[in-house]
Amino acid sequence: MENKKSARERFLDRFFGGVEDWDKYLTDSISQEENAYDYEYGLKILEVQEQFGNRTNSELGREMWYSNDFFINSLILNFITDAEDDLVTELKQIYVGLLGIREFNAEAMEMIEESEEYLITMNFEIDQQLTYISTLFSYYIYGMYIPDEERDELYPKMVDSLRDLVDKEALMKKISNQIPYDDVPVDYESPRLHIATDLFVASMSFVLGHEIGHHFLNHTGSNGRNIISKFIPTDVTFNQLHLDEFAADNFSFDLLIRGMKEKNANTLFAPLMVIFMLAIYDKTPEESSQTHPSLRDRYLNLLSKVSEQDEKLALSLQSIMNELASWINDILKGHGKTEWWR
Ligand SMILES: [Zn+2]
Repeated sequence: MENKKSARERFLDRFFGGVEDWDKYLTDSISQEENAYDYEYGLKILEVQEQFGNRTNSELGREMWYSNDFFINSLILNFITDAEDDLVTELKQIYVGLLGIREFNAEAMEMIEESEEYLITMNFEIDQQLTYISTLFSYYIYGMYIPDEERDELYPKMVDSLRDLVDKEALMKKISNQIPYDDVPVDYESPRLHIATDLFVASMSFVLGHEIGHHFLNHTGSNGRNIISKFIPTDVTFNQLHLDEFAADNFSFDLLIRGMKEKNANTLFAPLMVIFMLAIYDKTPEESSQTHPSLRDRYLNLLSKVSEQDEKLALSLQSIMNELASWINDILKGHGKTEWWR
């Protein structure tokens, strides 16, 4: 048998700037003299990952098989742990390459002769933006469980995290003026942080699951597929492409459900949040493109998937989304958005 290329080799060969170990690369690129705090923080993250890997991954520390990013590698490991026979074999042939590109996109790369494995690329921007929107949503959801007076105190934080999401210039300024990490205590017991973590983990899993879906449903035979519309494959009709998008969303949703140990409203909310995130940058979320169905239709499809699980929960998630989305639309005046999620 001839030697086929692994997806990892393909990623490192082909992508300019594709690095073997994302977090280590980030830490190595910090100047130790100029940015002692950031450098220390980077080392601390690597150390925490090493310990986490030892606990969860047979003492193998930061060893990564399925991604150049430690966190994504653990998400794929979760998928594998929760899957059964055939799917396990397939999942083990995935490699997700994280790229430092500032554009919200992930892509299931087309299959090639020289490799039998599945290559997915994901831009770092997705990780960032999902972090900010998870924070924003977590303040709102947490606010529903506390007294009014306390809730009012969360308001500035919500505005702040919305700004992180949409105003990149302000964000860069904020990051460069940041207080050294050591001086900011993180309360790991905070219920608000738990909500944000659930949302973030589930939304990253949903994006990955969507691209995995494109691979496993044979959508990548001749062309790659990405999470937003960017290019038009030449050999399929638009209708088929639209159906493929719904199929990939459904595949990912089912994968997410399978990994859910007990019913978690935040996990079920996350796919809706991802579509909402895409809609912030889409001028016409209710219109379809040649390659993709409208975000509105994808949103409503996912909402009906939640409803299949739990009708009451779907209604309450929709009412949360309705309030949050209206609030965001109000603040982002001038974007001229409709209430596309209804
Ligand atoms: Zn897609």
